[in-house]
Amino acid sequence: MLPQVEASAGKIREGRAKEMLHVLDRLRDGLVVSCQAAPGDPLENTDTIRRIASSVVAAGAVGLRVNSPEHIAAIRRDADLPIIGIQKRYSKGAIRITPDFASAAALAAAGASIIALDCTDRAWPNGEPWRSIMERIHRELELPVMADIATLEEALAASAAGADLVATTLHGYTEQTCKNHAFNWSLLGDMVAQIRVPIVAEGHISSPEEASRALSVGAWCVIVGSAITRPATIAAGFIHAMNKRAIVNPVIGVDIGGTSIKAGLVDPAGEVTLITQVPTQASGGREVIAAGLCEAIEQILSDAKEQGVQPFGLGIASAGAIDAQDGSVFAATDNLPGWAGFQLRGFAQERFNLPTWVVNDAHAAVLAELHFGLGRNLSDFVAITLGTGVGGGVVCGRKLLSGRHGFAGSIGHHVIREGGRECNCGRRGCLEAYVSTAALIREYKERGGSITEGQPVDDAALAWKISQLAATGDPAASGAYQALGEYLAEGVANIFNLFDPEAVLISGGLVEGQPQFVTRVGERVAALLHFGRKRKPCVRAATSGRLAGVQGAATLVFEAQR
Ligand SMILES: [Zn+2]
Repeated sequence: MLPQVEASAGKIREGRAKEMLHVLDRLRDGLVVSCQAAPGDPLENTDTIRRIASSVVAAGAVGLRVNSPEHIAAIRRDADLPIIGIQKRYSKGAIRITPDFASAAALAAAGASIIALDCTDRAWPNGEPWRSIMERIHRELELPVMADIATLEEALAASAAGADLVATTLHGYTEQTCKNHAFNWSLLGDMVAQIRVPIVAEGHISSPEEASRALSVGAWCVIVGSAITRPATIAAGFIHAMNKRAIVNPVIGVDIGGTSIKAGLVDPAGEVTLITQVPTQASGGREVIAAGLCEAIEQILSDAKEQGVQPFGLGIASAGAIDAQDGSVFAATDNLPGWAGFQLRGFAQERFNLPTWVVNDAHAAVLAELHFGLGRNLSDFVAITLGTGVGGGVVCGRKLLSGRHGFAGSIGHHVIREGGRECNCGRRGCLEAYVSTAALIREYKERGGSITEGQPVDDAALAWKISQLAATGDPAASGAYQALGEYLAEGVANIFNLFDPEAVLISGGLVEGQPQFVTRVGERVAALLHFGRKRKPCVRAATSGRLAGVQGAATLVFEAQR
């Protein structure tokens, strides 16, 4: 089981060899806690270290790693478990672990069960070679040696020389490896594969998950130090993470729609201030739309400057399919003539000299729901926006799918009626042909509905009026909503079959003030779905509102900042 121990034990008394094997067995699959204080730390005190050791032993640590004979002797009075003894020695900023045999002998006399030895191939002025120290520990002290190394080559050399355990301790602490500040999993894997003596994972193990993973990779035991025994290091980690969050600056979010361009200053919690809105004037084409965009952004920049705020970047939501790679408009409908092919990201970045991200407007609404709405507590969901068209997005594992060209989640253009009504995408029977502002007006009129007093001028206003009538129980308006609900349920049931999400969230002008509509769609979906009563599909009204596009575009900038 432990061939190297058996080999080195062959040179020493039989009874002593058995004891060595027993010590190593006690460490197997366990947590060893390194109980040390940083030089100058208020905890650097023998009695304090002894108390820390008692505390972790009471918790179930199978062994301890302790610096200096004094600390070992103090702890040994309370504990009979294996103690890995080390003597740290500093010279010109470099650290050496147990640099000579005299230190090893003192650790042994104080009660160490294993001596850890620096087996890196660094030069140590006038020092004893580690090979001769290791040989004398075996022969004169009759104790096992743990080789602390930084590289695979050093590990192989140490095990060939007779080390009883080899530990990754010094990876990240030698000149050759000092660029690494995380545990080196491939080093551990290589050592386990190529070395027959027990391999110990030590150095930069900072969480219970990492410790457990090290055993899965094949470590004999795991040594954890700072993450358990150094309050200063632990507190500094908390403070660092909190400061990092605090320096996330507000950003400008913009939403370019068919009728208006909305913009605002968005803070990391999603709150929008300095809101401004300019007409899109889409019929004027690309230049006019871009001019409106610049006007809105300039307004926010000037207002922010007055408040002494410097926005970190620019997030732009736009109608049309957005190329995720370069932030250009891959395709756009006639709602934004001439918009397709526009290098939107490049244009805005150059014009305002701010880091810029671009996203489809429906996708932006989904991001707003993911970060600031009901999606905060969900991992997998699909969001649908009902308005002039039907937009949507799919979130999987808290990531929004964008697709190669930005078309992922085009829920409005999946067919629910083969050969059905004409859709503006060129096909027939798409969900969008049945559930939209225009569809609501059509269903209303087909049921004899008409609006005479104060005729609304556009479809959005007319749909709003129908929605108000439905809330008062007007038969034609209620009937129109019921018809839309039937169609929408077909589409939403398809979504549940495709993705089995935790929830489908519905937003947009058509569902505002229509909570019963969303509830009825959910009930209908449950009736349509295979095992629907058992699955209890969750269909809810989204919580993000009219500024969802502005908020969602901003989240891309926050992500990049973090
Ligand atoms: Zn379509």
